[in-house]
Amino acid sequence: MTSIRELHQQLVNKERSAVEITTEALERINAVDEQVKSFLQVTADHALETAKKVDAKIAKNEEIGLLAGIPIGIKDNMCTTGIKTTCGSQILANFVPPYESTVTQKLKDAGAVMVGKTNLDEFAMGSSTENSGYQVTANPWDLSRVPGGSSGGSAAAVAASECVVSLGSDTGGSIRQPASLCGVVGLKPTYGLVSRYGLVAYASSLDQIGPFARNVEDAAILLGAIAGYDAKDSTSINTPIPDYTQFLKPSLEGLTVGVIDETFGEGLDPVVAKTVQDAIAHLKTLGAKVVNISCPRFRYGLPAYYIIAPSEASSNLARYDAVKYGIREDADTLIDMYTKTRAKGFGNEVKRRIMIGTYTLSAGYYDAYYLKAQKVRTLIKQDFDAGFEKVDVLVCPTSPTTAFKAGEKTSDPLSMYLSDLMTIPVNLAGLPGMSIPCGFDEQNLPIGLQLIGNVLEEGNLFQVAYAYEQSTDWHNQVPPLK
Ligand code: GLN
Repeated sequence: MTSIRELHQQLVNKERSAVEITTEALERINAVDEQVKSFLQVTADHALETAKKVDAKIAKNEEIGLLAGIPIGIKDNMCTTGIKTTCGSQILANFVPPYESTVTQKLKDAGAVMVGKTNLDEFAMGSSTENSGYQVTANPWDLSRVPGGSSGGSAAAVAASECVVSLGSDTGGSIRQPASLCGVVGLKPTYGLVSRYGLVAYASSLDQIGPFARNVEDAAILLGAIAGYDAKDSTSINTPIPDYTQFLKPSLEGLTVGVIDETFGEGLDPVVAKTVQDAIAHLKTLGAKVVNISCPRFRYGLPAYYIIAPSEASSNLARYDAVKYGIREDADTLIDMYTKTRAKGFGNEVKRRIMIGTYTLSAGYYDAYYLKAQKVRTLIKQDFDAGFEKVDVLVCPTSPTTAFKAGEKTSDPLSMYLSDLMTIPVNLAGLPGMSIPCGFDEQNLPIGLQLIGNVLEEGNLFQVAYAYEQSTDWHNQVPPLK
């Protein structure tokens, strides 16, 4: 499978042009996307135009960056000037942003070739991509199963080789869980490391953009390109961005890894448990010291999240009022116009979250729910802080199960919410988290190992992920897709 570095070498050696590489990606999308349905929109003209510009630079022997000419998919909740951005919602069916998100602007500047906008659960609310207002994405490893969510389109597109890398967003696990279910690398950076400017807001204190890739180095290269201070995002961290590829070393000597005890309890598929334990044992052989860590308040993450995220969502989604953005249902009064438009434009899960969030923020319930959840959030952060006094990286499963069947959990929101049991605490604490492939179950479905780092210590995650990847073969497996 071709990596960013290999493609870059081919480009600078003039063995292949950016137009050829782009055309190959577009042909692959043509061949498989009818089955996988990763893309809501393929931006072929835009992609070929970008590729031509890269080729013109190469022809003039101008220097090009690593991402120049590399096909990339973008989750359709990041604004792209002149290119429709739906957020997976019918309410934004006709929304063409007049401005560019910071991440896509950075990629444009780097010469990366956006091949399309990928499918997602409506407003990034979900764990299976079945809440999309447009289509259901399939898992490339088994088309009857879900790719995970909410960034299921971006994960599936990379797993199915429809693009080299992609961007997703992660509020409670939406990069790591689909990465795990699709057998690719997915990273949620430290809160504030990557600008959220132009990312359609779901829960602003939790949302973070990050990369999907088929190998760790590609993820490190992509993170380096999108990270960095942005005055347009008030939560952006002003810190120097290292070259993340400097952390890609084969040994884990001197590094301490902590296994989170509480994550190996009830609800965890025994095959996932065994596979993740084997992966942890493998880290020892690479030189890591492995200890057990207790995060006793971790299990309150899920209930706290389902107060905080809907509260923020209910406030963020108030802007879809039929006036400023998207579709409009005409009516005789202003209130009727609002309600008719929102009733038609939002799907059931989004409505459910708006109702929960409006309730938890209402006078009389605010203290009992919202404020209480914020206190729980602090306690979870304290558990992590205590853990990172003893270890460099925490590890646990990414998802309690492998990919489930489409339709299996759609009528039971609580069982769907449980998919993110192990990823949510990381968002609540603002920490970086990564999922890497670490094996398969008996049905040949991928299993993910989650690595969690302290604030801004993405480097440690890359080191562990790379050493593990280079000494195993999981990342070389490809889905049985024709
Ligand atoms: N599944 C979680 C939710 O529905 C997380 C989604 C996300 O990270 N965007 O809220």
